[in-house]
Amino acid sequence: MAIRTLQAKCLCGGVRIDADFEDVAVNACHCDTCRRWTSGPFLSLHGAENVVLAGTDLLTVYKSSQWGERGFCKACGSALFWRSHDEAIYAISAAAVDNLGDVEMTREIFIDSKPDWYAFANDTEKMTGAEFFAMVAPTQEEPNG
Ligand SMILES: [Zn+2]
Ligand SMILES: [Zn+2]
Repeated sequence: MAIRTLQAKCLCGGVRIDADFEDVAVNACHCDTCRRWTSGPFLSLHGAENVVLAGTDLLTVYKSSQWGERGFCKACGSALFWRSHDEAIYAISAAAVDNLGDVEMTREIFIDSKPDWYAFANDTEKMTGAEFFAMVAPTQEEPNG
């Protein structure tokens, strides 16, 4: 599969992200932390490689758990990415990506945290938080956020 290089930026354009993806698909996270952070489910691209951040003087990284942290622009407030503390794993905001094109939302995680007052009609693989952690970190203690 061809590698796609995508660019993302915040609302004011001060923070920019370049990243490579082998597979581009949108994931939705319904967890409490994502919803409070983004004012909705966090729609992101998993599997980013070779992530390059620019405009990092405007980037603030908030440690939201022992497992992960969230990057946002301190000038315009845009939520840009979730990443693991070691920066090995990134989930980059799909809404921040330029020219994302024709992609599908394939997975919803923390479906057990989704409130009843919204639902996506997309045909997705739905995973609970426990199922998601079992997939990505089977030996870890269950992290949050
Ligand atoms: Zn900004
Ligand atoms: Zn989440």
